[in-house]
Amino acid sequence: DLASVSRGQAAPAASKGVMICFQDVTEVQQLDQMRREFVSNVSHELRTPLTAILGFVETLQGPARNDPKASERFLGIMSDEANRMNRLVGDLLSLSRVEEVSRMRPTDPVDLDQIIRAVIRNLSSVSEASASTVSYAEQLSTATVSGDADQLLQVVTNLVENALKYGGENTHVEISLECVSGRGGLKGDGYKIAVKDNGPGIDHIHIARLTERFYRIDSHRSREMGGTGLGLAIVKHIINRHRGRLKIESALGKGSVFSVILPVV
Ligand code: ADP
Repeated sequence: DLASVSRGQAAPAASKGVMICFQDVTEVQQLDQMRREFVSNVSHELRTPLTAILGFVETLQGPARNDPKASERFLGIMSDEANRMNRLVGDLLSLSRVEEVSRMRPTDPVDLDQIIRAVIRNLSSVSEASASTVSYAEQLSTATVSGDADQLLQVVTNLVENALKYGGENTHVEISLECVSGRGGLKGDGYKIAVKDNGPGIDHIHIARLTERFYRIDSHRSREMGGTGLGLAIVKHIINRHRGRLKIESALGKGSVFSVILPVV
């Protein structure tokens, strides 16, 4: 009996109260929407190469059966498409792994100088193939953070790979490592790895969305370059797990700088 309670009288013992319960479902709905979008994106990304493979299988079983030249070309395309699916599944697994353990902070001592040198070594054939160069400008002999070496290697690899991929022929990529005390959005001391390229640059309207899963500026170009649209989403998750920051500075025609700032613990 809400009326009698509001007049300061005791509610009769037998009265049935009314309870009104409000629940904000905006977040739940947003998460649900994100999940649906993700599943639909994954299905689309897997279906595109699968459709191509199935189409070529049919052609190889039919009209191209006795044409060795066409068969060889179609088998090459099928192999490329299968590799694309493989890369996508690999990136999806990486993403789900880093999301799963995102609340636990990795605690192994990791030497950032060694990580950068390993990435340059691993990608030397990629940079040579496009007549590009990767230089390591500022170097710190001691830059140890607490983290997961494999994941930090993946972060730097993805950033340098992107710089080479989107820069095209004759790109120059500069990597630097410096100490940032109380700067870069961190409360305490940190280390900053910056990957700078002189590629095409990115229009400011895209920058805030680059770390979303499957967000690409030019889907066709990304696919052509072997991209899955998940590289920067993985980078962001790994950096969050290390309580670090990712900074993207770019402008069309002016190249890009992707910086990772990791706290010193
Ligand atoms: P992808 O697999 O497509 O490379 P990413 O998540 O790594 O996906 O990158 C998202 C998009 O950001 C790319 O499709 C590309 O358009 C853009 N991008 C990333 N790095 C660079 C860069 N260094 N220069 C220009 N564009 C870039």
